[in-house]
Amino acid sequence: MENLISKAEIERDTAEMLIGNTFVGLLMTVFAFSGLVFFFESTTPAIQTQKTYVWGFVLVVVLARLTDALYWRFKLHGTQYNPTFPLFRFSIGLYVTGSLWALYSVLFYAHMTTIELAATMVVLSAMAGGAGTVLSPKKPLVTFYSTALLMPMSLCAIFHQQGDFYILGVLGIIFWFGIFSSAFRYHRFFINTLHLKASNNRLMEQMEVERTETQKINRLLVSTNEKLDSANANLESEVERRTAELFRLSNKDPLTNLLNRNGFLKLLNQQIQRTSTSDNSLALLFIDLDGFKQVNDSLGHKVGDIVLKEVARRLCAYCEEDHLGRWGGDEFVATIPYATVETAKTIACAIRNGITVPITAEDNHLSLDATIGIAICPEHANNALDLIQQADLTMYDRKRKQHGTVGVFNEALHDEIKRQQWLSESLKTAVTNGELCVFYQPIINVSTNQISSVEALLRWKCGDQFISPATFIPLAERGGLMPELGSWVLNRALIDLSHWQFDSKLCISVNVSVAQLLDDSFFKILDTALETTKIAPERLFLEITESVFASDTQLVVKQVQALVARGVKISIDDFGTGYSSLHRLQSMPFNFIKIDRSFVQNTSEESDTIIRATILMAKEFGCQTVAEGIETEQQRQHLSALGTDFLQGFYFAKPMPASHLSTWYNENK
Ligand code: C2E
Ligand code: MG
Ligand code: MG
Repeated sequence: MENLISKAEIERDTAEMLIGNTFVGLLMTVFAFSGLVFFFESTTPAIQTQKTYVWGFVLVVVLARLTDALYWRFKLHGTQYNPTFPLFRFSIGLYVTGSLWALYSVLFYAHMTTIELAATMVVLSAMAGGAGTVLSPKKPLVTFYSTALLMPMSLCAIFHQQGDFYILGVLGIIFWFGIFSSAFRYHRFFINTLHLKASNNRLMEQMEVERTETQKINRLLVSTNEKLDSANANLESEVERRTAELFRLSNKDPLTNLLNRNGFLKLLNQQIQRTSTSDNSLALLFIDLDGFKQVNDSLGHKVGDIVLKEVARRLCAYCEEDHLGRWGGDEFVATIPYATVETAKTIACAIRNGITVPITAEDNHLSLDATIGIAICPEHANNALDLIQQADLTMYDRKRKQHGTVGVFNEALHDEIKRQQWLSESLKTAVTNGELCVFYQPIINVSTNQISSVEALLRWKCGDQFISPATFIPLAERGGLMPELGSWVLNRALIDLSHWQFDSKLCISVNVSVAQLLDDSFFKILDTALETTKIAPERLFLEITESVFASDTQLVVKQVQALVARGVKISIDDFGTGYSSLHRLQSMPFNFIKIDRSFVQNTSEESDTIIRATILMAKEFGCQTVAEGIETEQQRQHLSALGTDFLQGFYFAKPMPASHLSTWYNENK
């Protein structure tokens, strides 16, 4: 408790208590004094005069004390004043007042009447009693004042031999004791109260500090919360942004911004799910651009990219953008919910019309078309991969038959696809099962009219049916079997050639697919075959189709140059059906150009123009021409007249087994 309040604080509170009560005290003093002096008639006028002097003196003291109290009240009260001096002045005033009371008792006791004496005793006791409470904060003051008021009067009463007044004196002393003990109790109570007040104040201050602290913490919390909220919001938007970015990266095609394979498969699975639960139908369109590869090859990837973006943009006019995807290269896919076969066909035709409108890309006006395959869920398939495969195969089938058309999946196609799957499987074991053989077709030199070479053509007898190379070669290419099959043909052809005993040194043409040409083991197989059969490399002509130009040209050129370096001759097969750019042709060393039979068998003026141009170009490149597909005498004469160096066709001979060739040679040489 002691620590809670300083001495200065106790002093100030004491001053507040004592000086604050001065006004009432002074009023009481003036009333009491005036009453005693003027109410009772004095025994002599001289006594009265003395009393009046004392009263006057008291009045002066009261006025001085009042002035001091007023000064305190209006100047000091409520400020952080030093209580020492005001208290000192108050004490002096009180001592003087007390002394005047004592003086009054001593001076006038003997001259008081019985009534006056009793009244004085009562007044002094009352004043002392009041002072005992009011002055209790300061022990010396209460001691002095109550003693000054009661003791002189009580002692006078005891020792003045006048009747029974000593009783009053004894009572006065007892009363004085009583006042003391209660004044001291009040003092303790006052001090305790001060401590309590101080502790209360401390508590209040502490509470205030804590309240301020709490407010500060609250403000901090609020601002931290706000920051956290905004950080959270930022984080959320960042997470959203990244999620969207991740979605875009994993589900969108960066070039066209359409769904990529992954994204489209997800979409298709969802749509199939919805379709099956709602008992509806869903059409899937597989769209393949016609002519894109040529654009890409001849005008470069930049133009190709512009075309793809433009096609994607146009597709959005016919299907929901979210329902469109880029399957790869120049292939697009689209879903049309609730579509019947008829509506799907109508939309597919509209898409084709949209794509055929010429596209302008870097000053080039490009006309493209699209071949579209349609499959319907659940009619044709009820899972995403099957549906896509069927639409893809339908597109592929249409493309084989006629570019720029729309086809719908059907059971016949399904059977064909099944058959192709079966053939693909069977082809894997065709070599080991001995189902393959090589047929040879003579190639005639126009100037000598003699056979100069034979073309080795692969044959496959699967069970009891012959499968056309036009069927199984693409299957083998797709199934990655060409390197194996091609090696087998190359070996077989060179072995057969090494066995033939013809007058002249016959040459042999062997078809080589791109996959075979680019296969790592190709040169090893070739070198071994040439070495074991002792065939001079100059007698081997390797036929590569124009399609090689669609592959990695640099690598193809490198491989072809390695072949040429060995002395092997190169033929460009089916010339005119692909889209070889002259630039690429120039970079490729070759010895023969084989004019495709579609030109040979076409009697139009345009075909002749193409053939003449090809022959002219071949001469420029320093190579010779072979016309394929000669079936009639007329064609033979015509192509000879046009200036072709070699002729090949059913007119001379159909492809035949190795064993028949000697007979044919002997009959026709
Ligand atoms: P190609 O290399 O252009 O072979 C010529 C094709 O034309 C052969 O068809 C041949 O039988 C056919 N032909 C020849 N003269 C005539 C004619 O006067 N009229 C008609 N209508 N056709 C004629 P085939 O044997 O069916 O081969 C088709 C294609 O399959 C070949 O075309 C070639 O690209 C590919 N091929 C065949 N065997 C092999 C092979 O061992 N390896 C590779 N990579 N491809 C092969
Ligand atoms: Mg060929
Ligand atoms: Mg050909």
